[in-house]
Amino acid sequence: MNHEACIGCGLCMLGCPAFEETGCEVLTAKGRNRALQAGLRAAEMTELIWACTMCGYCDAICPKDVQNVAIVLALRRELWGTPRRSRHEQADLVLGCTLRERLPELIPSIRRFVQRIGYRADVTDADCCGSLDVERGAVVPTRVRAGVVCDPICLEQYDGEFLGALAMRHLDMFDLKGRVYYFVPPRLVNRAPERFYALYDAMRRRFGCETNLDLNRLARCTGMSSVQGLSGEGRDVKAAVERLLATSRAERIITCSPADYLAFRDYSGRPVLFITECVRD
Ligand code: SF4
Ligand code: SF4
Repeated sequence: MNHEACIGCGLCMLGCPAFEETGCEVLTAKGRNRALQAGLRAAEMTELIWACTMCGYCDAICPKDVQNVAIVLALRRELWGTPRRSRHEQADLVLGCTLRERLPELIPSIRRFVQRIGYRADVTDADCCGSLDVERGAVVPTRVRAGVVCDPICLEQYDGEFLGALAMRHLDMFDLKGRVYYFVPPRLVNRAPERFYALYDAMRRRFGCETNLDLNRLARCTGMSSVQGLSGEGRDVKAAVERLLATSRAERIITCSPADYLAFRDYSGRPVLFITECVRD
């Protein structure tokens, strides 16, 4: 944990969903680092630890390279005492629990797209891979090889190609009419901007769409992914969606994040499509 490097500049608060929701500085990376610098232990700062959605915004913008997501994870593991090791298997196509359990209607279009671009579409992840437990700090993360991973949260556990990135490399296969709003999978774009900005730029040039790459081109999120885990309990996702769309004239929303698909479908009042539903026949 490199919290000592934090200089308290507050840049990390600009796009922090915990700050947007609460206006409470102490629930941001800055507040957490201040508490650690003052000598507080994990057990004395539980609210600060669970407020974080792990979106990675603060890591991407921090001028001192403070590893805030790693700090939150370390603190969560400290709260659990001795985290167990997670259970895994090799996989061709990792759907993730959100798609399997809450959005099974999207699976056929995902499998069709994956097969058409030459990947195996066998679904082998019958059991949960444990990525939500990684987010909770209940397990020590381990890495497993996979072909295609459909949910950005599963990339906590699997090394594979992210479905959304693959889709953006095959734009010629898509039919994206009208003004569309692409919600960026925040963890990935904040953690690896050099990989994802180019893909989103290409999509914007080709289709003239809006994206939520604002605030110095860093992604802001609904915090929805953490609603799946323990950390987002009670999070006001509706308000987060309204904030993100406040100035958007988008006629429809297309996303490659299952959690954001749920958030926008439930709260945006606009048509929402998963990216693989837009593939031309
Ligand atoms: S941006 Fe970095 S240095 Fe500045 S307050 Fe946040 S964590 Fe600390
Ligand atoms: S990872 Fe996201 S939610 Fe957590 S402190 Fe950083 S900006 Fe806030």
